[in-house]
Amino acid sequence: LMILTKKLIEVRNLLKTVNNNANLQLPSIVVIGSQSSGKSSVLEAIVGHEFLPKGSNMVTRRPIELTLIHSENSKEEYGEFPQLGLGKISDFKKIQKTLTDLNLAVPDSECVSSKPIELRIYSPNVPDLTLVDLPGYIQIHSRHQPPTLKQKISDLCEMYIKEPNIILAVCAADVDLANSEALRASRKIDPLGHRTIGVLTKMDLVDPADAVAKLNNPDFPLQLGYIGVVCKAGGSGNAPGQALIRAEDNYFKSHPEFRQANASVGTPVLRNRLMKVLEEHMGRGLYRIVNSVEKELDDARYQFKVHYNDRKISPESYVAEAMDSLKTRFKAFTKEFGKPQVRDQVRAMLEERIREICEEVYWNDPRVNQLPKICSDPIWTTRLDLTFASLTKSGVGRSSVQLVIDTLVQNMEQMLSADQFAHHPEAREQILAFSTEILRSKFHVTVDQVENTIKPYKFEVECTEQEWQEGVKRAVTLLDTTLSTSEQELKTIKSAFGRRRLRNAIAQIKKQEKEAEVNGLPTPVVAEPVSESDREAKLLFNAREALRLQKHISTLQGRLAALRSRQCGVSANKSCCPEALLEVLADKLTYTAVMFIYVELLNEFFFQLPREIDNKLYYDLNRQQILKFANENPTVRKHLEIQERKATLELVMEKLRSLNRKH
Ligand code: GDP
Repeated sequence: LMILTKKLIEVRNLLKTVNNNANLQLPSIVVIGSQSSGKSSVLEAIVGHEFLPKGSNMVTRRPIELTLIHSENSKEEYGEFPQLGLGKISDFKKIQKTLTDLNLAVPDSECVSSKPIELRIYSPNVPDLTLVDLPGYIQIHSRHQPPTLKQKISDLCEMYIKEPNIILAVCAADVDLANSEALRASRKIDPLGHRTIGVLTKMDLVDPADAVAKLNNPDFPLQLGYIGVVCKAGGSGNAPGQALIRAEDNYFKSHPEFRQANASVGTPVLRNRLMKVLEEHMGRGLYRIVNSVEKELDDARYQFKVHYNDRKISPESYVAEAMDSLKTRFKAFTKEFGKPQVRDQVRAMLEERIREICEEVYWNDPRVNQLPKICSDPIWTTRLDLTFASLTKSGVGRSSVQLVIDTLVQNMEQMLSADQFAHHPEAREQILAFSTEILRSKFHVTVDQVENTIKPYKFEVECTEQEWQEGVKRAVTLLDTTLSTSEQELKTIKSAFGRRRLRNAIAQIKKQEKEAEVNGLPTPVVAEPVSESDREAKLLFNAREALRLQKHISTLQGRLAALRSRQCGVSANKSCCPEALLEVLADKLTYTAVMFIYVELLNEFFFQLPREIDNKLYYDLNRQQILKFANENPTVRKHLEIQERKATLELVMEKLRSLNRKH
């Protein structure tokens, strides 16, 4: 008989996952009443269990959307909170505790929240019903409650008692019905009483004749009528259930007034009335729902076709594709990042250091101009040894490994900023984290290996004539670029101040320097003037800089001539051509370092990273994480949404069709 309600409750719950379009709403029974009117007792009598939060401290703070599912063939009784995913809960005390916790999680300062708690109860003893329990109307509020609380509760109730819902207005029979908040709210929104059922509780507390009279409340007649109940649990030791129903039955039987007036009383009568009314309203809404679902489904199908060409996707396949494309990109990168590329980087770093060393030890020393002629002088051989040591002992291992790691991380960051990973900042951070983790775990071993293998070069470097020639060639290039940088700087100064002004200023400086020399004073040092307006100081400063550059340029030119001379053409004259020797050394260091960086660090990294990606971001993800990942991409989220919507609506339509056939 109640198959319609059952199916439509299923449909209702399915539609809730699609959206909250008002046209797709199926009716529910909304329970309203003042605090202590006996609302909870009535609901528990219908369910046959005590499960609602109890206490004086405003314990119902959120709507409880209660779905009762009559399970014909099962003896099992249990509840489920679909939002929490806790599974079946057979202990109703535990359901009560969970509800209490969920309600009390709303802070005292807000006191009520419109966010519903969903609860489903499966039992052979309950009818198929959907009910919503709401916070009770309050008369006075306590110090801890916000002053707007009364209004907040009314607003919340008003939202729920709108069409197409059925209103269950609970009033205590021992209170004047004219003062009932529930009836007042109902009358406002359903003035003719088409969809309101009145429940008078605590019938045992009033004189039976008065009680009967109240059931006919002439002030607000309801088409669905008033029903009187006695649901006093607890005090009399009655748990809700059979015993309570029996006690109630006894009460009404023991007072002939009820029978004589043929009054609608008793929880079983209420239950039947609720079932009947819900079924009727559901049936009435059926035509409208079928139409709306059809319209929504057409729309979903159209969108799916137009936007996605009917192509189905799954979150799993999206994750797999994302990881695959990342791995492909990574693979391509490992091919590009071969030994020659790494060598270029390390060599460039070492050359920068050679430039610094030469600048300091040779190029800034005026005597270096005589170097080609006097290189057998021990001062130059000692210097060469020092230079040598300062390059080999400068922590080549650490800095070259760090350089490679920095480049790798930079590339990973770039790879992970492209395409779809832009949508997945968390995954991106995770991948970067385990990339750096792999690299860090290899760092020290690699540094040690590199340092060990370059140790022999700290004492001497042997080279073939060909290696020497190449060293000379690279040294010439290094000097050439340094030279042109200095020339460029000088040119900039010249064009900024004018050749003549600069020449005069330089002459003035030279004069000052000479005077200082004669008087045995140090050459005056001038800091760059801070103020733009001090033009004279600025000119002098730049003139000094130009003078320095001129000297530097002439030194570099001298060194270039030396390197190109016959003397530097052979490796025997090492100390005359320190730049070339340092280049030879740098080349050897580079080869050795990169070889070991490759073995210890890069090969390991290239091998491990794709596996880590698979392990941590593919095999390890649960369904929820996969969904989260897929939904982070707005394009995919929209696609999944419309696909899901279409599938749900199709299922709903199928259920509705099967109902239509039966009716
Ligand atoms: P709620 O605040 O509206 O949920 O009200 P409760 O269901 O908690 O009931 C408030 C008080 O009224 C409790 O102490 C109940 O035991 C008592 N009560 C509820 N129904 C009846 C009834 O039918 N008869 C009597 N005598 N007391 C009742």
